[in-house]
Amino acid sequence: MNNKNIQLFVPTFRTEECLEQIRECLDKGWTGLGFKTVQFEEEWKKYTGLENAHYLNSATVGLDMAVDILKETKGWADGDEIISTPLTFVSTNHAVLYNNMKVVFADVDEYLCLDPKSVRKKITDKTRAILFVGLGGNTGRLKEIEQICKEHKLSLILDAAHMAGTRYKDGTLPGKNADCIVYSFQAVKNCPTGDSGMICFKDKTNDEIARKKSWLGINKDTFARTAGSGAYKWKYDVEYVGHKNHGNSIMASIGLVSLKYLDRDNAYRRTLAQWYDEFFAGNDKIKPIKAAPDCISSRHLYQIIVKNRDELLLALNECGIYPGVHYRDNTEYRMYAYAKGTCPKAHEASEHILSLPMHMRLTFEDVKYICEMVVKYAQ
Ligand SMILES: *Cc1c(COP(=O)(O)O)cnc(C)c1O
Repeated sequence: MNNKNIQLFVPTFRTEECLEQIRECLDKGWTGLGFKTVQFEEEWKKYTGLENAHYLNSATVGLDMAVDILKETKGWADGDEIISTPLTFVSTNHAVLYNNMKVVFADVDEYLCLDPKSVRKKITDKTRAILFVGLGGNTGRLKEIEQICKEHKLSLILDAAHMAGTRYKDGTLPGKNADCIVYSFQAVKNCPTGDSGMICFKDKTNDEIARKKSWLGINKDTFARTAGSGAYKWKYDVEYVGHKNHGNSIMASIGLVSLKYLDRDNAYRRTLAQWYDEFFAGNDKIKPIKAAPDCISSRHLYQIIVKNRDELLLALNECGIYPGVHYRDNTEYRMYAYAKGTCPKAHEASEHILSLPMHMRLTFEDVKYICEMVVKYAQ
């Protein structure tokens, strides 16, 4: 053991700027829905170029709402199918189960994202949507997936939890034509808050439904009611049995500051990735996952594939380095076990992938040390 302590993820907050934003909320006496949440939605729309954005308390509830609202508006039935990846955080696939639909797992490609070839084979007359995860910030073959959706009239939901700031090289936003994109601002994601997310529907009507459903089904938010006048502002209607999923102004305050630094931070993440790449170049025991050729990745993750992942992970821990695994093959979990063995590439990857530390506090010296230890212990 030595005295190093290099964690996988450490969020960086610009504390003074965050406190200044939060102070505005406290001084005003407005910490909930409205005020900063509206500002953050406007800034997010400007940043992404998306037409709709609704701020939520997590991406998990966002994915749930994406499936729920598309199911309702498109008339999908219980038991209908959504094609998804086994190599993701369980939020992605739980969203399908919450809504009594079935996850059909397709295999991944060399980017660890859904492989269009495998997806095509999984389409049945019950398929309604494809749920694509931009793993680690990568776009993989998302454009081909979009083409498949068009051909087969399927909806596209993009789990962009890792993709805050990811762009194509021509500057366009990945998935800008998806039916719904969901971003995460959870603390270790690229645009950190304490916990929150954004749901971005293509259709304005769906955005309006989301705004009601995220606040118990109430059809006007508090801010609009307070801004309005008259004695009847208490007399709102309740249109849905909605949940309490909306975000709040304290989290949005932090989000507004993180968003200001997102491009700068992502550029540094890409620099870290480049340093890793350079150290590992020519080493045939270590295979880094590359960004797709047309992708400027947010670099939420830097993943490598090695033969002896489990031993390497333990050896690195002994050196004060704490990597992670993204992710365990979801078909290993009981609720998805019906699909065990259907995605051999994802399964193989999940046994050999390792996510190396990736955050704003890492220095060149840290990366060099990590790489030296990885090279030393990889077989
Ligand atoms: C983090 C994450 C989520 C969930 O985000 P929360 O904001 O924590 O709910 C969903 N999908 C993926 C791929 C994630 O990494």
